[in-house]
Amino acid sequence: MLELARHFYDVAADRLRLQEPMRTLLRYPKRKVTVEFPVVMDDGRVERFEGFRVQHHPIVGPTKGGIRYHPKVTLQEVEGLAVLMAWKCAVAGLPFGGAKGGVRCDPTRMSEGELERLTRRFASELSFMIGPDIDIPAPDVYTGEREMAWFVDTISMHHRGQFMPGLVTGKPKVLGGSEGRETATGRGGFFVAQEILKALSREFEGVTMAVQGFGNVGSNMALFCHEAGAKIVAVSDIYGGVYNPEGLDIPKLKAHVRETGSVKDFPGTEPLTNEELLELDVEVLVPAAIENQIHEENADDIKAKIVIELANGPTTLEADRALYERGVVVVPDILANAGGVTVSYFEWVQDRAFWFWSAREVDRQLARFLRRAFRRVWEMAERESVDLRTAAYMVAVARVAEAARARGLYA
Ligand code: NAD
Repeated sequence: MLELARHFYDVAADRLRLQEPMRTLLRYPKRKVTVEFPVVMDDGRVERFEGFRVQHHPIVGPTKGGIRYHPKVTLQEVEGLAVLMAWKCAVAGLPFGGAKGGVRCDPTRMSEGELERLTRRFASELSFMIGPDIDIPAPDVYTGEREMAWFVDTISMHHRGQFMPGLVTGKPKVLGGSEGRETATGRGGFFVAQEILKALSREFEGVTMAVQGFGNVGSNMALFCHEAGAKIVAVSDIYGGVYNPEGLDIPKLKAHVRETGSVKDFPGTEPLTNEELLELDVEVLVPAAIENQIHEENADDIKAKIVIELANGPTTLEADRALYERGVVVVPDILANAGGVTVSYFEWVQDRAFWFWSAREVDRQLARFLRRAFRRVWEMAERESVDLRTAAYMVAVARVAEAARARGLYA
């Protein structure tokens, strides 16, 4: 991820003729912190954990990004994701820099008590560098509302007990969480899908789509597109996929997944593998599972005309080039999946004002932000004759560089 984000940054910086020292300053994060801390386990042992937080640059506002718990988290991975967040926030026009964090642990083998102690200790280790005006964490892999509530409680306790909901996003609603956060990334992806089809003068009604990954993002994207008249002919999850050329009934499929835990064996469909799904002859392909799914070996077999990247980094660099050369339009992750962080921004705004919006208002504002972001990227691509990914990075880097220049260099 770090390599990809740096590569696309360099391409954008070249085209923007970004001068030194700004060019180098923005290429690297401002802060990379590693903390080691103890946690008392249920059996009385004290175990040592390693945690990370990387902040890109708080130029237009505080930095923002999730915290993941995973046995394989590394500082480099966290840095790559922080950089990606920086450009995602900038392309969406949010007043945030990027950040990311993580703790190397195996949450699937830890009790709730152990996870609570780990979260509270990690929060207090980071307390000198996070806050509603400095850096705002959020859930990520294996963290959710529960961990965010512990985070807020811990830091608030350190501040004379003052409740600070704007400290993290992705909280339970009762603690200032936002309407619409759960479905935000999928809904944002749907708005982007509408925009790209409109820009290419294609009808949304009846457009054929295949969606890889049927979790939070993929299933909601599929549902919103289905409701708007698209024909979702195939979806998959880690166990395999299902196909029906006449289109899948997405609400029924969601119910099937709730019952069985997988899309597999959904009545009235043929089975297909994840590899076959990616190579289906559809108009729109939506990778919404994990990274590196479209690569050198399968890029030439992708038949979709449009790829909407809802997962982070689903296309490798080599595949990106191959798709571009074949005229496949790729809507990049930093634009296509920015709906999640956009609603996180709305949560933070609501928390600061203690004034909460209806679900309808959240969706209305989300549509406004993402349509505007899409338009800026599309116009940049047309003006500069570049692909949408280069254009998205150019929009993002130009915005942050302009703000950094306006502030001047305190050196
Ligand atoms: P999730 O865990 O809810 O769902 C992931 C889905 O992908 C599941 O259906 C799972 O079975 C499937 N999957 C996992 N490994 C797979 C594999 N090897 N092959 C095929 N399918 C596989 O996760 P999510 O929140 O829906 O996130 C999906 C992607 O979107 C991730 O790349 C994530 O980083 C990105 N993303 C999520 C958000 C968000 O708000 N949740 C925001 C931005 C980006």
